[in-house]
Amino acid sequence: MTLIERIRNGSNVPEVEHVAQYEHVSVEVVANGLLDGTIVIPSNPLHAGLDARGVGKGLRTKVNANIGTSSDSSDINVELRKLAACIEYGADAVMDLSTGGDIAATRRTLIAACPVMFGTVPIYQAGIKAIDQRGRLVDMTADDMFASVESHAQDGVDFMTIHCGVTQLTIERLRSQGRLTNIVSRGGAFLTGWMLHNERENPFYEQFDRLLDLAREYEFALSLGDGLRPGSIADASDRAQFQELILLGELVKRAREANVQVFIEGPGHVPMDQIVANVQIEKTLCQGAPFYVLGPLVTDIGAGYDHITGAIGGAIAAGAGADFLCYVTPSEHLSLPDENDVRDGIIASRIAAHAADIVKGIPGALDWDKKMSAARKALDWTAQAELALVPDLARKGHLKTPTQDQACSMCGKYCAMAVVDQYLGTKTTTRCE
Ligand code: SF4
Repeated sequence: MTLIERIRNGSNVPEVEHVAQYEHVSVEVVANGLLDGTIVIPSNPLHAGLDARGVGKGLRTKVNANIGTSSDSSDINVELRKLAACIEYGADAVMDLSTGGDIAATRRTLIAACPVMFGTVPIYQAGIKAIDQRGRLVDMTADDMFASVESHAQDGVDFMTIHCGVTQLTIERLRSQGRLTNIVSRGGAFLTGWMLHNERENPFYEQFDRLLDLAREYEFALSLGDGLRPGSIADASDRAQFQELILLGELVKRAREANVQVFIEGPGHVPMDQIVANVQIEKTLCQGAPFYVLGPLVTDIGAGYDHITGAIGGAIAAGAGADFLCYVTPSEHLSLPDENDVRDGIIASRIAAHAADIVKGIPGALDWDKKMSAARKALDWTAQAELALVPDLARKGHLKTPTQDQACSMCGKYCAMAVVDQYLGTKTTTRCE
């Protein structure tokens, strides 16, 4: 039985209780969210040691970090260090996007060391295997694609991105639209090339029930991929993007009827004034399915600082109801991220997620900020460091320039907190005069 079937049958569902406790909400809130499809708990029973998390309405906004090898860099020790950074800096999920070296061995090593939700994109391995064994991506078969999904499920993958909405109809919309950057999704590109060369429909769309059977058998969540996501601001919110989303909305309905957990991947590059509408349209077309946005990046020119362009978009999207943020690192568009990029990407996305949680009214979110402000007012540097998103960085930042005062070196003895304290007659703790 799937997790949703267990809830329907009134069985004991430890994952639901665990998530409710973590989120400080009732078990009913989580269970009802799973039943109506507004919450998912991606948790493959074969993922040993998973600390399950929920994604969706009423829950903390979650952050995913992508790691994985490429054809130019495939050292498992590097990937394990990146995974360690993901855990240390608080990623709620990790996706292994490996395309280089021994992809299966990399996935198995990473998942064994990963206590958080683990996601993959199985079409990568299917396509690369076809190139290795038969010389061409287009020689991949539909069975290869489903075999890849099944092998990932058997390894304990909790959620898989499958680009079911890249269809002949969607590609026709893409042609008639005329885009600046066509397709920037690797999985979307693999499938589009395969479909055009073979003059076939997307097997993941055509045989969607086969995919649902696998999801039911192994209990992994479907992350319906946005193969047509805009890769530039100019392409945002166009007919190709929304054609795909319309199809995904139909597939959400079918997944729910099969008691399979499902959520939707979103853009991409989107100007700020279109982000809220993108979230509202996804929630409408996909009947409230959790929305997993990739950034979105609010400008195309931030190379080197795209963790910031992504976090700006992520904060706006999550504030409008997006549930899950895929981080963007400083090396986006430039190179494979290293562990420092991973750290910076996670921190930027976690700030965006928390900023959104304050306006979403997530239990405890605003209280965290109030405690920090009280510690600032009291010039309590120990408490400030402990309350900071990254305590070590906050501590080091404060100690960077030594000061004689209890205030920090920003204003020194002219600390505004201390001055006002003194003249309001409240406690004065510095030698400010
Ligand atoms: S010195 Fe300035 S920046 Fe530092 S705590 Fe006081 S008011 Fe804030």
